[in-house]
Parts: sequence; C-alpha cells; structure tokens
Amino acid sequence: MTDSKLPSEPQTIRRTDGTPGANLPQDAPPCFHLLAKASGSTCNIDCQYCFFLSKDTLYPDGHHRMSEATLETYIRQLLESHRTPHVTVAWQGGEPTLMRLDFFRQAVSLVDKYRKPGQIVKHTFQTNGILLDDEWCSFFRERDFLVGLSVDGPRELHDVYRVDRNGHGTFDLVMRGWKLLQQHKVEFNILCTVNAANENDGRAVYRFFRDELKAKWVQFIPIVERATEQTIDLANLGWRAQSGRKRVLYTQTGNRVTNRSVGSRQYGQFLLDIFEEWIRHDVGRVFVQIFDVTLEALFGRHLLCIHAPTCGFGPALEYNGDLYSCDHFVEPGYRLGNIHDTHMLDLMASPEQRRFGLDKRESLTAQCRECQVRALCNGGCPKDRFALSRDGEPGHNYLCAGLELFFHRARPAMQTMAKLLQSGHAPSEVMAMTMAEDKRRGPYAPCPCGKGQKFRFCHGNNAPASRFEGGVPRERHRL
Ligand code: SF4
Ligand code: SF4
Repeated sequence: MTDSKLPSEPQTIRRTDGTPGANLPQDAPPCFHLLAKASGSTCNIDCQYCFFLSKDTLYPDGHHRMSEATLETYIRQLLESHRTPHVTVAWQGGEPTLMRLDFFRQAVSLVDKYRKPGQIVKHTFQTNGILLDDEWCSFFRERDFLVGLSVDGPRELHDVYRVDRNGHGTFDLVMRGWKLLQQHKVEFNILCTVNAANENDGRAVYRFFRDELKAKWVQFIPIVERATEQTIDLANLGWRAQSGRKRVLYTQTGNRVTNRSVGSRQYGQFLLDIFEEWIRHDVGRVFVQIFDVTLEALFGRHLLCIHAPTCGFGPALEYNGDLYSCDHFVEPGYRLGNIHDTHMLDLMASPEQRRFGLDKRESLTAQCRECQVRALCNGGCPKDRFALSRDGEPGHNYLCAGLELFFHRARPAMQTMAKLLQSGHAPSEVMAMTMAEDKRRGPYAPCPCGKGQKFRFCHGNNAPASRFEGGVPRERHRL
C-alpha cells in the first residue's frame, strides 16, 4: 500500500553511480514507497494464510539474505530517486529480524551517507515481533523507527492462523515483543489481517488493540487468497513446503478463494463494526488507516494505493535486487528488472510499470464506473478483481459487497468531519454530534452498524466485556 502521488515533469538528477547528471527518465515518479525484503520471503513462523511463503520457489537455489552490495545499491538508488523531501525506507518480509541487527545498522549508516541535503528519511519495519529483544528495541528507539507489529486480535483469534511450524499459536511470543516495544517507547502500529476467523469480531479486535495494546495506529488488511479449480485443494492446506507435498507458487490467478479468506460482505461489516465504535469514542485519538484515507479522499487526496484511481508506486525489492511492480505481484510476469543492472528509477519509469499503474483505472468494470462511492473506492486493488459484477462482467472486485457497504454507511459521518475541517473545527466534534443523534433515535432503534441488533445492545453498549479472554497475559510477561 503506497502513497499515490503522480509523476511530475522530467528533471535532471545527479546520480552517484558513475552517471552524474544523467537525464531523469520521462514519467519518473517523484517519490514512491518501496518495500524491501531483506530476507526474501523467509519467515520464522508459518501463518497459514501467508502466500508469501510460497515465493521462495522463485529462487530455489539461493540463501535468501540481502548482500551488503545489494543493500548499498538499494539505499543509494532509493535516495537518488526521490525528488520529494520525505523518503521512507521500509523493511518487510518474510521476517526482517532474520537478518542480523548489524545489517540494519549498516542500512541506517548508508542512509546517512547517501542522504541528499534536505531529505527527511523515515525508517519502517514490519515484523511478527517474535525475535525482538532489548537490543533490537533500543536500536529502533534510537533511530526513530516506526515498527509495524502483526497481530490478528486476542489470543483466540490470533492463534487460529498465526502459528509456528509445529502449528502452535504465536500469541504469547508476539505479546512479549509488544511489551518490549512498549518498554523501550518504540513508535509502533498494529497490522491486523481480516480473515475467516476474526471477520465477525471487528469491535472486539479493535477494542483489544486500543485498550490492551494501547495502539494509536491500526491497519486492517483483508486476506484474499486466490486459487484456481486445480490449486484450491493444495491452497487450502497452506503455502509452506511440507515433506512429500507438491508446492504451489502463489500467483494472482483463479477465481476461487481459500477457506481462510475473508467473506466479501463480512469485510465491510468488520470495518463498520469498528467505525461505529471509533466515530463515538476515538476520533483524533486512534488512527485507523482506512478511516484516515477515506476522509482524505473526500478532499481528493489518495494516500493509499488500494483506493487511489491509479497505482504503481509501491514496488517490492527482493533480497537479490530484483524489483517487482508491487509486493502483491512478486511473480515472473511482473519482474521489472534488477537494480544491479538498471537504476530503480528507470525501472519505475518503465512503460511496463506505467501500464501496471494505469491499468487499475482502465480496467474498471461498468459497475465500478457508475458506482456512487467510486471516488472513495476506485474499484479497490487489482489483485482482488476476479469476481463477476452485477451485470456478469468479469474483473470485478471480490470485496465489492463489503467495500460498498462500508463506504456508503461511513460516508455521511466522513462528510461531516470534512465540513468540520473546512470550517476550522476539529473533526473530533463529530463524536458529540453522533451521540446526540443516538439519543434522538433512542436505545431501541436498530444499531447503525447494520448487524441487526438494537442500538442499546450493540454499539450503544459500552461495557468492556468481551467474549474473548485472550488479552495480554500480564503475569507471564512481567519482564
Ligand atoms: S496492485 Fe494493489 S497493492 Fe499493488 S500498488 Fe496496485 S493497488 Fe496497491
Ligand atoms: S464499491 Fe464496488 S462497485 Fe463501487 S467502486 Fe468499489 S468495487 Fe467498484
């Protein structure tokens, strides 16, 4: 998911790779959000829905670790490529803590070496949290990293799919990592997948993050694992190598989904369940990515590639320097080239990458083109476009029912917040307005979340009780 700013006019940059003053390629984007996979798709656990685990079949011979030469080429080219003051150096996996900490110390010193005057660099790091220790956390704090921690909710929900290689839940180990991040005052956000196990429990999941993990930033990612008629049975078994079993390289093909994937309407209901809590209690206090980007979209700014009109500014870099169009398209047909052979900016400005980004808009179905919430949704991510539209047109977004539900229901309150902002007020004033409306409607009216319960027993009920007991295990993790 990326920033979606559009390219500007050609300019000249000074490169440090022996081509000083080289012409900037036409249509080169002024900035982009690259996800670097220092350890390829290698991971120390075995989340059942993680199709990235299958990507090691792309590189059958290698020890999947980024070399110092690739690291230096990457950092140098990334900083050379940006013509906006802000640059993000984003580490992703697999699991990046499988690299030694010294590797990231080296990365940070290379940033110091190649940073252009005026460039402000933010380091981000997505982890399952299991290998975190005091040394990692001190480093993150010292170098001001933003750490994304993957958690799918309380123990009962997290442990359904986020398991180790023996099939055991990883919740306790992740909570240990979370505690260390907290102790070291590392800035963190929670990345939560929405899947078949937690799709009906949006509010409980959100409350767990807010109340137990004290999260201020939360991001939700729908799990949609595609498969064909031929691969669905293997796909349902998971993506890691297992002895005696044929492996499938995950590609964005097929119109079946695994039994771990979130239901379409359920995804929208999950978001609404959280939205109805947030709009009454947490505006300005907790930042939920999809809510933030929806509000921004009302001002015509698209901060998340998934709901931007076009995309193509979120490439993925494999450990060996291969650059792909997007982290979700690390597959042979979307390999742009290798940064040891071609500067990443040339790859980003290539016709293939431009076409990849523009196809997002140009392949919309008629239903999307005529949709009332198109300005907020823009058809969603192309990787999810494998369903039939209402008219039977192929290439429609599998998640459409949920996206439509969410954007339709959330839009009025979002518009109120936009008006508040425009008139110089705090958007958080929407909370009092929402509660005044609740009072006017009365406690026995249907809850606006649409789940079918009376308001009083649904989002009008603020009791902290949860049917889950899997909160932070405080006794076991007194560190
Ligand atoms: S394919 Fe999807 S995830 Fe990738 S850049 Fe486009 S919208 Fe973003
Ligand atoms: S809500 Fe559905 S129809 Fe509307 S733009 Fe999104 S995917 Fe297309």
